[in-house]
Amino acid sequence: MAKSIIIIGAGMGGMAAGIYGQMNGYETQIFEMHTKPGGQCTSWKRKGYTFDPCIHHFFGCKPGSSVNQMWHELGALPLELVNIEECTAVASPDGKMFVDYYDLERLKNTLLKLSPADSKMIEQYIEAIKAFANNKIDDAISSGSFWKMIPIFFSMPSIRKWIKMNMRAFAERFSDPFLRKAFAQLVYSNPDGPLFFHFMRHVGGMNGDIRWPVGGAAEFAKSIERRYLALGGKVYYRSRVEKILVENDKAVGIRLADGSEHRADIIISNADGRKTIFNMLDGKYINETVRGYCAPLSDETPFAVNVCLGINRDLSGEPSSLVLLLDQPVTIANLKHENIEAQLYGFDKTMAPMGKGTIKVELPARYSYWKQLYNDDRERYKQEKQKAAEQVIEILESHFRGIKNQVEVIDVYTLMTWERYMGGTQGWFNLPNRKLDFSMSMKEDLSDKKFKTTLPGLSNFYFVGIWATAMGSLAHNANSGKTIIRRICKKDGKGFEAQT
Ligand SMILES: Cc1cc2nc3c(=O)[nH]c(=O)nc-3n(C[C@H](O)[C@H](O)[C@H](O)COP(=O)(O)OP(=O)(O)OC[C@H]3O[C@@H](n4cnc5c(N)ncnc54)[C@H](O)[C@@H]3O)c2cc1C
Repeated sequence: MAKSIIIIGAGMGGMAAGIYGQMNGYETQIFEMHTKPGGQCTSWKRKGYTFDPCIHHFFGCKPGSSVNQMWHELGALPLELVNIEECTAVASPDGKMFVDYYDLERLKNTLLKLSPADSKMIEQYIEAIKAFANNKIDDAISSGSFWKMIPIFFSMPSIRKWIKMNMRAFAERFSDPFLRKAFAQLVYSNPDGPLFFHFMRHVGGMNGDIRWPVGGAAEFAKSIERRYLALGGKVYYRSRVEKILVENDKAVGIRLADGSEHRADIIISNADGRKTIFNMLDGKYINETVRGYCAPLSDETPFAVNVCLGINRDLSGEPSSLVLLLDQPVTIANLKHENIEAQLYGFDKTMAPMGKGTIKVELPARYSYWKQLYNDDRERYKQEKQKAAEQVIEILESHFRGIKNQVEVIDVYTLMTWERYMGGTQGWFNLPNRKLDFSMSMKEDLSDKKFKTTLPGLSNFYFVGIWATAMGSLAHNANSGKTIIRRICKKDGKGFEAQT
């Protein structure tokens, strides 16, 4: 008889575990607390506008890579994809604009126009991108294997000097004051962001590995759900798991919020790690290492407050991502901001009614501030969201004259919104408290020592998703589902199969 698997959560890891489980002869069921698949990979519609809190960069579009192969196996591809022309753009209050084009000739000309005095540094920047785009690195990036990338990075003198640098340090090498400010913002407006990640994005954009899935994150997630259902998988929505049932230190089932119990041979959690460990399992399966992973994260959280706007304005000529540097810092949501970053979806016609456009502005914020507001004073929480939207619109007005009167829809969501829909401990930010671990490569099936998918003393239980990988990445978290099923197959003494 086929072994049964219960999966808690229909995020990337959960759905991938379901799909590869079905492909390998297991009977899987997914219990999801929300009303739709995808978890963080989600989007929604308001009056014809689509708001997407998730995808900035979708890796794995280039045929031939193992990530691309996985997307085909998961039914995520083929999907209509759009090429994006630039990595990010930055605008100054006095009207200067730097568009960081993927096309190197265009990029070089743009930079030389902005600062001829920086020609030497510009040349070095272009050469560094070319060095990163070297075939060997290109293949390593496409395979998704950090293990493969690291030795290549260090073996090449032309790029070795850039590996450990962050965006701030790189920006300081330019003499032009605007470029110094602009370069510091090119990795999600985070000057501490790693320079090699910026180069990886360039390589992905140049070789067609990063593209945009038309329709946004929800369409992408739905295509994976379709694949799962077609393979005979079962998914139950509005089904919050409260407890994992354990007998003799073996996970044997789950109890839902409605009191019903469901049993299976193997339980996989794609839910928040802290909630799984302390609520679903009452903190019984823990050691010092796992306790360390559960330690609180930094209070200042990226992408914490998001202002989505439906605008009666054509945005098709605008860059996909635009950082607006501010004259004066502005305090929004109790945090000082020296710039704001907007995503402009003019490149995908399906994201807004004809001739109109969708904008999303993502702001970091303090988790504790929003948590307290939400718990203590719901009215003030709503007012603060409204205020954040008004401040953002005012800033956008300085760059897009007249936009203030073109706003048709405003939708603001915070970390509390994520928590309500996905049950995390800190909004979407549910990473284990551990250093990024390069063991989450796409190909290797790594040991539990490095790939933290189990809990001490508990058998028949696995984690998939962000708790297992510590990576905010669609590809890595989907791959964690594949890795776990491969591991279960091995344990059961059978070969692992994957079909497109
Ligand atoms: C703002 C933002 C931007 C991002 N941008 C990108 C990007 O550009 N490129 C990229 O590759 N990645 C990006 N990511 C990361 C990527 O979306 C995530 O890493 C990935 O989707 C997480 O997958 P996961 O398997 O961890 O599942 P999750 O998305 O964490 O899903 C977990 C699922 O479990 C469900 N669940 C939780 N508790 C329970 C319970 N008790 N009972 C039942 N169900 C439960 C939740 O509702 C959810 O559906 C971004 C993420 C965010 C938040």
